[in-house]
Amino acid sequence: MNLINKIETYDVLDLLQKANKINIENHGNLVTLERAIFLSWYCEKGDCAFCYMSSQKSKIKDPQKARRTVESVLAEAEVTRRMGWNIEFLSGGYGLFKTPEIKTISQEIYSITGKPVWLNLGITRDIEGFGDEIAGITGAVEVANPELHKKICPSKSIADIVDMLELAGDLGFKKAITIILGLGEKPEDLEYVWELIEDLKIHRVTFYSLNPHKDTVYENSPQPASLYYAGVVAATRIKFPALEIVTGTWIDNLANIGPLLLAGANGITKFPLFKMYGTRYGKRVEEEVKWAGKVLQGTFTDINRLECEDFSNETLEPHVNQYIRRCLGKKDR
Ligand code: SF4
Repeated sequence: MNLINKIETYDVLDLLQKANKINIENHGNLVTLERAIFLSWYCEKGDCAFCYMSSQKSKIKDPQKARRTVESVLAEAEVTRRMGWNIEFLSGGYGLFKTPEIKTISQEIYSITGKPVWLNLGITRDIEGFGDEIAGITGAVEVANPELHKKICPSKSIADIVDMLELAGDLGFKKAITIILGLGEKPEDLEYVWELIEDLKIHRVTFYSLNPHKDTVYENSPQPASLYYAGVVAATRIKFPALEIVTGTWIDNLANIGPLLLAGANGITKFPLFKMYGTRYGKRVEEEVKWAGKVLQGTFTDINRLECEDFSNETLEPHVNQYIRRCLGKKDR
């Protein structure tokens, strides 16, 4: 089957049916909720054309102030655990955290969640110090076309990302990449993405759809069409049955979730947690999962799960409670 041709000729329904069957055979029916935990709101690169951080860089006079406190990061990990979500990865802009600090934070998260942490921390070869607390390393490829990549992410060389992922593999870590759809790529560019997956022996791909941020050149660009997005994911699922696939969708595109799950996504991500938890938006996510015939791991609505009577970490407790208060804040139900 020519998978790319199927997308180009609008035969996505056929792709979805095949992808869903392959996905169930290889991964079962469970769908995870994934949350990227950010370490900072600053990136010293700050020049990727689509990125929120690129619109903030000139406004941040003291980058150190854009660091989150470790307590706040760990509290978020604890709340994520209570909800039954996965931590998709620990993420942060370039230039604010050193490897030993990230290692310590990852160890503490591991002790909270019982799971090693994925990292998505930019391009670095300084990963040899990491150990069992790390599941894998993510290369933020972002653009599905190498020529477009040079214009859209001028400071993130693909060669350097590949180099980092090869080193990660040599050190025994799993490897992931991220791809954003809607940046000007074409269906045929999937060949390039698939080559990367094959050559680098990638374990996990996160697909995002463009989130047009204010003050970026994409501010007035449309997000990719739902069936194009689902077609890309389905073709990738059919091509790589064992691959873990996470798909991101923003609060204004919740109707994407059902098709993306039928296309073979194992996890869903990119939600504004505090706006959505326990609201009709969170409920909508659960409905999308249900009507795709899948079973959700964790919850987007169960307020009771936020409380945990056994929790005995006195330092973290106020931070966790602050998170819970934000989750339970003003709700548009
Ligand atoms: S390197 Fe990452 S965080 Fe920095 S501007 Fe580019 S996409 Fe944004």
